[in-house]
Amino acid sequence: MTATLVDGIGELVTNDPAWAAPGQPADVARLGLVTGAALVVESGRILWVGPHDAAPDTDSRIDLGGRAVTPGFVDSHTHLVYAGDRAGEFAARMAGTAYDGGGIATTVRATRAATDDELRALLAARVAEAHRQGTTTLEIKSGYGLSLDDELRLLRLAREVTPHVTFLGAHVVPAEYAADRAAYVDLVTGPMLEAVVEQGAASDLDVFCEPRSAHAFTEEESREILLAGRAAGLRLRVHGNQLGPGPGVRLACKLGAVSVDHCTYLDDADIDALAQSGTVATLLPGVEFSTRHPYPDARRLLAAGVTVALATDCNPGTCNTSSMPFVIALAVRELRMTPAEALYAATAGSAATLGRTARVAAGEPAELAVHDAPHHVHLAYRPGVPLTRVLVV
Ligand SMILES: [Zn+2]
Repeated sequence: MTATLVDGIGELVTNDPAWAAPGQPADVARLGLVTGAALVVESGRILWVGPHDAAPDTDSRIDLGGRAVTPGFVDSHTHLVYAGDRAGEFAARMAGTAYDGGGIATTVRATRAATDDELRALLAARVAEAHRQGTTTLEIKSGYGLSLDDELRLLRLAREVTPHVTFLGAHVVPAEYAADRAAYVDLVTGPMLEAVVEQGAASDLDVFCEPRSAHAFTEEESREILLAGRAAGLRLRVHGNQLGPGPGVRLACKLGAVSVDHCTYLDDADIDALAQSGTVATLLPGVEFSTRHPYPDARRLLAAGVTVALATDCNPGTCNTSSMPFVIALAVRELRMTPAEALYAATAGSAATLGRTARVAAGEPAELAVHDAPHHVHLAYRPGVPLTRVLVV
């Protein structure tokens, strides 16, 4: 394998504080910007990073003509394995129908009816779509099977395209268990979880903790499911505080979850719990955009020193976008994050929930995005414009 010099990088975002310059604001310093940069890649790994003038000689060279390069986006919350379409539900919601989690059953029916090959083709198209927009790392959840065989099937299909697979048997209580919720919790924490662990089908477990939804899980049910997952050696993630104030965030922090996602409705105790725990607050503003819920208060989280991540929550019901640049633009415009904070959250923040770094430095994987723009600010400054692609070296 020959080393390739990637040259002509107008601005390189490294997420490496070693490149911070004196006098930069903290959010920009953290991005570790190098202007007039170059990097050397060999066999998918970064060998060298620095200013163009100091670049070593290599056999081959790519000139990016002044474009910006950043770490590839890390989408740490997606539901990409499903069949069917809920455009009608979206149209009804835009016309005033409230969202309560009930539409998930529609996707469960369509997904159970689909063959492996049908699901595989749908999944491949969605992964390619994310990749075209600069996403290099994806977390994918199950959650539209909700039977032992179907959950394992979805996890296996997800595993074919990413190492970051999350067991979400506790997405909603399926219709056939509506009269006996406890029996479903027993299935999730018993035979389903045992099979997931036995087959090494997932590294993480997630639960939709939302007492306001008749379909999702109460605090007590969520605690039971999370404790079972933790005891089985899985890392924990929680869908929490999406539809209103609730117990999800505090439960996630108390049980040592790597991430609590949504965080749309937070009170002082939630913020304190997040600030005192190592749990990342993953914000999914595409959901608020697509459901017309109020946006989460990112400024309050950042002021409290909480690690914030951004992800799409790409799913057929509440947010059907795979575009991390769109999420970054929303975070800047609607969550009042700075462009630097939003980019960091969409790379280093989300990577932290998956045990990764999203850093551009010697020895790291060459998972990079290139933008038809001179500066990372253009991601939010030029919303909806297809500036970004994965850099293939
Ligand atoms: Zn979700």
